[in-house]
Amino acid sequence: MQIYKAPLDEIRFILETFGYNELAGFEGFEDYDLDTAMAVLEESAKFCTNELLPLNRTADQEGLKYNPETGEVTTPKGFKELYEKFVAQGATALTAPPEFGGFGAPHTLGVLQTEFATATNKSFSMCPGLSHGLIDALLNSGTDEQKAQYLPNLISGKWSGTMCLTEPQAGTDLGLCTTKAEPKDNGAYSLTGTKIWITFGEHDLTENIIHLVLARLPDAPPGIKGISTFIVPKYKLDGSANGVMCGGLEHKLGIHASPTCVINFEGAEGYLIGEPHKGMRTMFVMMNAARLFVGMEGIALGEIAYQTAVAFAKDRRQSRSLDRKKIDKDAKADNILVHPDVRRMLANVKVSNEGMRALAYWAAMQIDVAHHHPDEAQRQLADDFVALLTPVIKSYGTERGFANISEAMQVMGGAGYTTDWSVEQYLRDARIGMVYEGTNHIQALDLIGRKLVQGQGRLYRNFSKHMFRFVKANKDNPELAEFTGPLEKAINTLNQTTMALGMKGMQDPEEVGAVGSNYLNLFALTAIAWTWAEQAKAALGKDSKFYRTKLKSARYYYSNILPETESLLALINAGKKNMMEFEAEDF
Ligand SMILES: Cc1cc2nc3c(=O)[nH]c(=O)nc-3n(C[C@H](O)[C@H](O)[C@H](O)COP(=O)(O)OP(=O)(O)OC[C@H]3O[C@@H](n4cnc5c(N)ncnc54)[C@H](O)[C@@H]3O)c2cc1C
Repeated sequence: MQIYKAPLDEIRFILETFGYNELAGFEGFEDYDLDTAMAVLEESAKFCTNELLPLNRTADQEGLKYNPETGEVTTPKGFKELYEKFVAQGATALTAPPEFGGFGAPHTLGVLQTEFATATNKSFSMCPGLSHGLIDALLNSGTDEQKAQYLPNLISGKWSGTMCLTEPQAGTDLGLCTTKAEPKDNGAYSLTGTKIWITFGEHDLTENIIHLVLARLPDAPPGIKGISTFIVPKYKLDGSANGVMCGGLEHKLGIHASPTCVINFEGAEGYLIGEPHKGMRTMFVMMNAARLFVGMEGIALGEIAYQTAVAFAKDRRQSRSLDRKKIDKDAKADNILVHPDVRRMLANVKVSNEGMRALAYWAAMQIDVAHHHPDEAQRQLADDFVALLTPVIKSYGTERGFANISEAMQVMGGAGYTTDWSVEQYLRDARIGMVYEGTNHIQALDLIGRKLVQGQGRLYRNFSKHMFRFVKANKDNPELAEFTGPLEKAINTLNQTTMALGMKGMQDPEEVGAVGSNYLNLFALTAIAWTWAEQAKAALGKDSKFYRTKLKSARYYYSNILPETESLLALINAGKKNMMEFEAEDF
């Protein structure tokens, strides 16, 4: 049984609370005021619930077929028709620029739409997800000719995209990439090499597959500074085959309907995108967009798992309430929602997920601000927020998302572990989020090693000030004191920890490596505390069940989740000493 209702009330509240109306006023977004945006999202939610969800379980069970003779991959029954309907609905074109056939909607709506698609069918959603990343990379780094050649068909969904980075010896360390690109007489390049684990590298949903490939030119310096990026279509623009072959499929824990392919480039013709040897710049545009979407995967699958656990808990009766007054005398046992521990688990999932969603959607809105605000300074500020928060959302969203699905499973006892309610599938499907698009620890290194030092700490200072502005503006409001006080303390703690870690890291980088993941989680919990304070303020004085529940949730976050920062602080203070004392032979 699969249970899902898109959280549209929740989404409207977040858009209202975190400034969607300002964004809708930017030039180019005239057609997307809040009501129109919600109408678009309602349609998308309906489509995902009615079309994507019914194929989620069957596709997971059926999996993919690979033909070693032809290298072809067949997707599960119904996927091809589903993709056609998805494309006909305009889903691949929603946020793309009108000059290439898109609808020009705010990027925020694309992120929201992805939440529904991921929750209802993560495997399927990965195909348009990768195309979206390639579209961004082309818009940023492609020549006018490349844009004209590839964007219209990618945006319409006729073609799909991939991201080809990983090789057997080059995972996290992409500087070890050995795929070769040799210049041809016609200005193109001949690519030879093997990429592994390429998502939707081969499939039968689209007429052509456009690969974005990392490779080395003959004069490339060693390491990451010698990587260039190429567009390599499966079929060339004249329709001829291009020496791109799928060499096999991986068998894996989850996302059984998403092909994870070995892709062999056998003298395939490729076209340089961006400058030679500066390929990581192009790839980072794609990866950064993708990282926010990956963070959303934890939130989306956490949501569907939560809804399933709530439905189960409201039905299941076991044992008696610890409080005699709550015992249901007409039944042999009480509903499990009477047990405080079941509530603890459900509240943990609900409140952490809503907080993460608020942070992720605020960041998504900042992407639109960064591109469309009339004021240059505001654009820069928003761009900084996005750069700083992207690794936080990717890592914390997927880690907490996975923990949340596990907790939802626990609420359901054995029924969560067995296949009937599909929560076990959500758990399996979510796990990859912590690994791909740069492992979660690599996100922590990106946060500390790149983002915190960028502009001599400008990104961090501005975000810290942004959170602190809420405290300052609301300090005298007694109704918000239960939030402003602890939030001020949390921000100060994060400021001090950031400074101290920066100093320690300059003397000994291993200190950063040892506690980086804990620091990222401390950062995330503090940033989410800010979003909950904003949400509490928006809910104050409003008399409806939705807002009253919001206030309860904000209180739960401050009493039961924010205190996790204390154990993280203890771990950060413990530093590297005791873990680095082990000899290799001790493991
Ligand atoms: C289902 C699936 C889909 C994928 N899709 C794609 C795709 O579409 N395109 C693509 O190019 N790739 C894809 N990948 C590959 C994915 O991006 C890599 O798995 C990921 O980047 C990690 O690389 P790795 O697996 O080689 O791990 P490794 O790099 O070998 O890392 C192993 C461990 O060592 C740690 N580690 C490594 N370096 C450091 C360091 N400097 N400091 C601290 N710790 C470190 C890592 O955090 C990790 O815990 C996919 C993988 C899977 C499983």
